[in-house]
Amino acid sequence: MPQYHALTSFVGFQSHKVVRWKRHHKSWIELWIEYQGRTLRCGGCGRKCVRRHDQVSTRIRDLDISKHKVFLWLPRFRVRCPCCGVHQARSVIARGGARCTRRFELHLFILTDFMPVKAVAEQERVDWKTVKDVEIRYIVGLLRKRDLDGVTEIGIDEVSEKKGHRYLTLVTDIGKRRVLWVGRGNDSAVLKRFFLWFGLQRTRRLKLVVIDMHDPYLFALRKSCRARIIFDRFHVVKPLHLAIDKIRIRQYKELPPEGRRYVKNSRFLLLRRREGLSAKGRVRLKELLAVNETLNTAYVLKEDLRGIFDIRDSKTARAEFRAWKQRARESDIPEILEYVKLLDRRRFGILNFFKHRKTNGLSEGFNNVVKTIKKWPMDFMIGVISISRYSVSVEN
Ligand SMILES: [Zn+2]
Repeated sequence: MPQYHALTSFVGFQSHKVVRWKRHHKSWIELWIEYQGRTLRCGGCGRKCVRRHDQVSTRIRDLDISKHKVFLWLPRFRVRCPCCGVHQARSVIARGGARCTRRFELHLFILTDFMPVKAVAEQERVDWKTVKDVEIRYIVGLLRKRDLDGVTEIGIDEVSEKKGHRYLTLVTDIGKRRVLWVGRGNDSAVLKRFFLWFGLQRTRRLKLVVIDMHDPYLFALRKSCRARIIFDRFHVVKPLHLAIDKIRIRQYKELPPEGRRYVKNSRFLLLRRREGLSAKGRVRLKELLAVNETLNTAYVLKEDLRGIFDIRDSKTARAEFRAWKQRARESDIPEILEYVKLLDRRRFGILNFFKHRKTNGLSEGFNNVVKTIKKWPMDFMIGVISISRYSVSVEN
């Protein structure tokens, strides 16, 4: 029976045992560990290597134990690899050259989600730069190309950066709800870069693409792939909202001063979902619609259209959509007519939505990923970020 130090199972390192420990000034602990396994893998190519070249010990930071900082003395081996020659061996505990363990790095990375880098560094008593490096490395690691072959449905979104002065294009995997790729800009050249990266084979396998009604994306898509294009329902309804707001402003100007009272500050009332309004808001909306026929017509049309997008049966939805367009034309409101024209131009993408019912909406975690991407200047981020990013193991 080999003698195990009591701390071995406590600190729980795979194939390593604790051989010695020392506590310093009630504030930090040093642990000496030894490798228990027989084989080593080359850090360059991953091949199993039997022959060890040499060994050194390096001191690295690990997770705290009861408010004590923990430092490990980790044996680092070099192996003689048939491909790479003398090369550092891969370690399950820390990456080559790292000054903390993998699990400590993961801990730091998770913290960066909740607080700024500086705060993490202070709380964990590490260098600011260490935290920054960890964050960047994790994001880049998560952005690796992996299991992309099964991707058949993608969503393309533009995200504004720096208060709308610059844009990012995000390509997401709809099936697995993760971000596939991020590029700077929102023109067709960005998508061209995406398809180049994604590869011809995979592009051919794409079946559905959900986009907003942004023209450059559409041009690039038509050129690059044969997938069905679906317009994201929220982006389809958005121009109608803008149209209603235009009607409201026009009405306000045309009304005599005493009639303006109802129209003033009514933007929210008109554009919010009826269920989202307070009791007071509903009363105000009712008053407004009662006195203003044009706005009433536009409002009813908006609510109807929203209802049509909720219809599950594709045939009924198509029929209702056709009837809706007819009603909208009959309304004879210039702003609405313009919107109907837009719908006619983009009909195919809307009808495809009724058939496949896919949208771009991603979960909350998505915003965190976007936040992190914006934080660091990476011009061209390539790869895969999983939305459940903490369950992903990250290689280096
Ligand atoms: Zn090798």
